[in-house]
Formats: sequence, structure tokens, C-alpha cells
Amino acid sequence: MARREADRASQPGRSVAGTNLEFTRSHNRRVVLDTVRRLGPVSRAEIARETALTNQTISNIVEELEEAGFLLPGEPKREGRGQPSIPYEINPHGAWSLGFHVDHRAIIAALVDLTGKPVAIREIAAERPSPASAARALRRLADELVGQAAIPAARLLGAGLALPVRFGVGAITTAGPTTLPGWDDPDARQTISEALEQPVLIENDAMAAAIGERLHGVARAIDSFVFLFLDEGLGSGVFLGGQPWRGASLNAGEIGHMIVVPGGKPCPCGNRGCLERYLSLSAAEEFLADVPGAPKLSQLDTSASEAVERWVEDAAPHLASAVNILESTLDPETILLGGVAPADVLARLIDKAMPLPMSVGSRSGRSLPRLMTGSVGRHTVALGAAALPIFDEINPRFDVLLKH
Ligand SMILES: [Zn+2]
Repeated sequence: MARREADRASQPGRSVAGTNLEFTRSHNRRVVLDTVRRLGPVSRAEIARETALTNQTISNIVEELEEAGFLLPGEPKREGRGQPSIPYEINPHGAWSLGFHVDHRAIIAALVDLTGKPVAIREIAAERPSPASAARALRRLADELVGQAAIPAARLLGAGLALPVRFGVGAITTAGPTTLPGWDDPDARQTISEALEQPVLIENDAMAAAIGERLHGVARAIDSFVFLFLDEGLGSGVFLGGQPWRGASLNAGEIGHMIVVPGGKPCPCGNRGCLERYLSLSAAEEFLADVPGAPKLSQLDTSASEAVERWVEDAAPHLASAVNILESTLDPETILLGGVAPADVLARLIDKAMPLPMSVGSRSGRSLPRLMTGSVGRHTVALGAAALPIFDEINPRFDVLLKH
């Protein structure tokens, strides 16, 4: 399928309309795949109703996708008179994809099937890997994962790569203790792609996690949300109307450097009082370093210690402010808090952030909480990275994943 397409199907909300006339089969294939992903198992008649495509168009596309191995037919169901209807689902073994999370101390690799289910995950230590050194490691990991899973090479959609960097802006891109050298080189993606012999899509870690959440996680039916990504820093991935919101320089969602305490703690970006100086694992580490007998960062999840609780109480009001600002600016359906931070720490942060300050999010009749837990754990970003090629393949309007 073509990777870049214009798009006329601008209807927001749960379904993107297909087009019978001038727009391509490729676009319509994406519309059908996306509908089956969200609603499957689903019959051809239901797909036609959902997409506003003709029955004939749906029949042709479904047949083509079934032959290609992307769709799996279920048992025919007879309802009343007439032809029995066949429910279709995404075929997990129709394709696979690789995801890599590269940061300043490790590389995590994941192989997932077309439904996003992890087939295998590996992790190796890596000290601030450059594109060249990462390329060699990624190739080894890819060969190992694909070889062990016995995946036909032709069925690999590609690879996604998630990095803790921001793109193409000055100080913030290169500031901080977790920066990787050399990745702002325009040839970095090419270096990785040549080593893997696969097309490679690059995202920042927070947006990769958000895309994974949208494709396979709790946000699969949520069109507008913010995924707050808590790791050593604080980032976010923003989805509006079912699409990732990238911003003019591809750095939308960089909320860790929103100033929440004017004149507050100095930040490596040059400002003072940035949100991530209070709400991040590095902020927690710094806070706990000043408390005698406090647990180390790696022990946060096993400890209900008073010291951790004190940090949670210190950080939670800043989380509440962030929710207020994001709701007031973007009016999302919900805000998800996730990332590599321990699950119980995130749950306690959400708990302590209540009651949230008033905003447009305080509306009555909500079906989702204003703030809830998203995907959590060390593998969240690698799995999100593995979702990038799949999302690129099946999302009807996704045409600007980073390709530099
Ligand atoms: Zn900052």
C-alpha cells in the first residue's frame, strides 16, 4: 500500500468515510482494515454501513485482503433468509512488525503480530548508542527475534523505532541527561533502515506509546486523548479526531517543559519551574535523594514507604494542573497516565491528584474518567514502536510519520 496519500475522508469521529470515486483502492483498503480492527468480527454488510462504501466495493476489497492474508473469515452466520453472512477479523498471522525502544542505557526489541500481540521481546544493555552502533545491535536483535519465531521475511511490514528525543529544535532536543548522540543526523533513519533491510519509521517515545495505545490498547475506541508519558522526563502523545497531532515541528505534546512554577527549579532546557522537574522519575529520584533512608528509584514499585508517598503528594498537584491545562486547551475525551514508571506509583499519583480542578473536562455525563491509567511497563514503548508500521499500513489518514 502507498505510504503517503492525500486524504479526502475528513469526517471526524468513530468512522472515516470511504470514497467510491476518485480516491484510490489503497485508501479504501485502509478504511476497511481500520473498521475491522475496531469493530471485528464484522460482516461485509456491516463494513459497508460503517464506511459508506458500496457493497460491491467492500466485497472486492475484503476478497483482496483475505487473499493477501490480512483478514480471517469466521464461521458463516445465517440470519433469516438469504445468504449467510461471514464475520471477518484481522488475521494475527497476516503480518508481523518489529519495534525498538532505544534509550541512553538499553535497547528493547519487540516482535508483534498484526493484532499487536507480542510474539517475542528482548532487551540488551547499551550505553548511549549512536545510530551506527544501534544499527548493528538492532540487526542482531531482529535476526534473533524473526529467526526464533520463524516468520516469513516477506510478511514483515517493517520496523518502528522510538527514541527519547525531540525533533529538529534547538536546546530542548539536545538538553538533559538522557540525550543520545548523533540521532539528529538526517541520515540516521537510513542507517537503521539499511542495517535492517526494512522500512523504518521513527517516533519519539511518548508518541510511539500513544500510537500503541490507540492501535491495540485502552484507547482503541477513543478518538481524542492525551497519553501522558512518565519516564525520566515527561512527554505526551496527543490524538485528536483519531489522528496523531504532530505540530508544526513534529514536537507537539512536549509538555514536560511547560512552566508550572515560575522561578522554580532550574531545568536543563534553560527555563525554571518546568513540569518535568516535579513530575517525572528523575524528579522522584532527586526528591528521594534528599530523604534519609528513602528507597531507590528502582524500588518505587515495591515500597509503600512514607518517602515515596511524600513525593507523590508533592507531584500530584502538578499532575492536576497539567490535566486542567490539557483539558482547557484540547478538550480530550480522557487523559491517560502511563509509561515506564511503576504501575502502583502512577495509580497513587492519579489518586492524589483528585479532586481535579474545574475545567471543560468537568462536564456531566462523561463516559470516561478525566484521568486514568494507560499502558504501563518497561515494554510499553517498544510495543508502541512495533505498532508504527501497522498503524501506517492501516490508518486511513496517517500520512506524516517522521521520515527524514
Ligand atoms: Zn525545561
